[in-house]
Amino acid sequence: MKVLVAAPLHEKGMEILKKAGFEVVFEKYPSEERLIELVKDVDAIIVRSKPKVTRKVIEAAPKLKVIGRAGVGLDNVDLEAAKERGIKVVNSPESSTRSVAELAFGLLFAVARKIAFADRKMREGVWVKEQAMGIELEGKTIGVVGFGRIGYQVARIANAFGMNVLLYDPAPNEERAREVGGKFVDLETLLRESDVVTLHVPLIDATYHLINEERLKLMKPTAILINAARGEVVDTNALVKALKEGWIAGAGLDVFEEEPLPADHPLTKLDNVVLTPHIGASTVEAQTRAGIQIAEQVVKALKG
Ligand code: NAD
Repeated sequence: MKVLVAAPLHEKGMEILKKAGFEVVFEKYPSEERLIELVKDVDAIIVRSKPKVTRKVIEAAPKLKVIGRAGVGLDNVDLEAAKERGIKVVNSPESSTRSVAELAFGLLFAVARKIAFADRKMREGVWVKEQAMGIELEGKTIGVVGFGRIGYQVARIANAFGMNVLLYDPAPNEERAREVGGKFVDLETLLRESDVVTLHVPLIDATYHLINEERLKLMKPTAILINAARGEVVDTNALVKALKEGWIAGAGLDVFEEEPLPADHPLTKLDNVVLTPHIGASTVEAQTRAGIQIAEQVVKALKG
């Protein structure tokens, strides 16, 4: 049996596949056209948030039995097309939970204390002591939008920092909320009352542009928005306007509507934004867990 690994996979994951006796072909992030060529005789494909496994790719793979997504979000896999063909889709939803939550806080600190801005200026030889005035997190209110695995970890960390925790989730888990000292409110209340709004929802129809112009206007002018979920959850044009016109104070973004973010994108021109290139799950720990978990599931799916 043949497995196509179409994104970087931890070596421990590769070993598991090879030990199971599969022929393993590795090609990093092939284009759709190339992927169509590569999948014609494979039994399994393994991807990360890239490449996209589209209907066309699935149709070009007559032997395909399983699609493995090393990570959480399944928005790059055409689940409907897979289902129609009876192809199993597996992921490793818990592998990157803690890493993403820690990055969300990394971004938050970088924005709240203007760390990236100050670093940039120091390299230019400018000592920006006055412009780098920040805020403390203790006693501030954080609004966690999407209280699932990552949202819960973010809320735990926020609680440890002495922040008040507001939560919004259409499927509220009250027991977990109590654990983190959090309170469920509606989205509008969360946006109005939070000093920090952090997004941890999946990208689905209901969350596309969930944070739009109208909702950004509900936020405090001193508020910080963190997005380590998916770029499409925020209307980027509205966000750029909000950051330029001071509807909110700053943003920390790990994900974008267009990835890679074009070098001349308006977001790159703003000093009140901290940008990272979709590295939420890019830790040694998360990648090791994802590689092992996805390889094991693919072996199980193919060998039973
Ligand atoms: P999860 O499924 O455990 O949690 C998502 C939560 O969002 C659930 O509790 C769900 O009820 C809630 N939700 C659904 N629709 C909502 C809505 N309209 N409004 C508010 N909440 C809503 O998922 P998770 O493991 O916490 O991951 C969340 C997302 O983080 C993933 O779907 C993925 O897009 C993103 N992610 C990003 C990175 C990265 O590298 N930046 C890495 C991993 C995951």
